[in-house]
Amino acid sequence: MKMRAITTIPPNGGVKFSQVSPEDGDGIKIRTYQTGICGTDKEIVLGNLKFARPEKGPSLILGHEAVGIVEDPKGNSGFKEGDIVVPMVRRPGKCRMCRLGRQDYCEDGDFVEAGIRGKNGFMRDEFIDDPRFLNKVNDPSILGLAVLTEPLKNVMKIKETFQFLRLRQPWYCDDSTLACKNMYVFGTGTEGLLISIVFRSLGMNVVQVNRHPLGETIMDFFDLNKIEYLDTSSENLDKKVKDAPMDAAIDAVGAMDVLKEITDNIANNGIAIMFGTSGQLPSSNYDVLEKLVDRNIVVAGSVDGAKSHYAEAIRFIETNGKTTGMSRLITGRYGPEDLKIFTEKENQEIKKVIAWS
Ligand SMILES: [Zn+2]
Repeated sequence: MKMRAITTIPPNGGVKFSQVSPEDGDGIKIRTYQTGICGTDKEIVLGNLKFARPEKGPSLILGHEAVGIVEDPKGNSGFKEGDIVVPMVRRPGKCRMCRLGRQDYCEDGDFVEAGIRGKNGFMRDEFIDDPRFLNKVNDPSILGLAVLTEPLKNVMKIKETFQFLRLRQPWYCDDSTLACKNMYVFGTGTEGLLISIVFRSLGMNVVQVNRHPLGETIMDFFDLNKIEYLDTSSENLDKKVKDAPMDAAIDAVGAMDVLKEITDNIANNGIAIMFGTSGQLPSSNYDVLEKLVDRNIVVAGSVDGAKSHYAEAIRFIETNGKTTGMSRLITGRYGPEDLKIFTEKENQEIKKVIAWS
């Protein structure tokens, strides 16, 4: 018996609806419920991610954002048939950080990532997985939102990084809250929007920044979550920061000019966290460096997240998923044969998901 899967040939790319053999093994057998598509999948399909590599043979099963349902725990304690689970993307190598369960801080790059490098992903009818890398969802009412756990766990690590960085000085407001602090979030993709609702939940003012007007879906989401939108095609960032200083900034774009916009505009003692990547390298960064040093700016990079961040993401969706209108971020559900979703971008698209069952 073969099953459905979506495959690519890395690092050249392409995307194919395939029939593959089910896996064998001792782990937990999981039926895929939904998989999400993000920029990384599209870049792999375009052949732009040179580190993409198969597990074995020439093709790689795509998919790193997933939610599934346990079909057979095969004697693994802690799981039972029908449990809703979110699998982790990055799997440890042999370095000390990996051995400590912090492969998100891997020291030598010797890890694999499901659907990206060295491990088949979750865009298939079922998969077998190690219980150590599964996160249980307790509230079945968030089954339709749990596919956002993977992108949200990145945000939980960004939040943790931010909370550590702000402890270097009394950064809070006079009343001990963060209500006087402005967080600028660059980018309006899924990650950017999830970052904004999480930082709103810390009580900060959030200004989301992009260079063009946005459609109704996102503007309604901003209204609901009291997020301010700055469209820099019609309003000036320098002018905005005069009224609302840029106390902190998070980049979810990954373009060098965003880093420049941040260093030009961030307040003294500011905190900047870079999450986006695009492969763009600066030709000269002396100017940027001088600004960072003189003004005590801290810039941190953040990638991936630990198992604790998956658990926190699931709790956040369980607690805040409905009030923050998170379902509005899922703008399309498709079947596994609709491969055009990898190459076409729809008007007002945020997150597209593939329904497997
Ligand atoms: Zn490692």
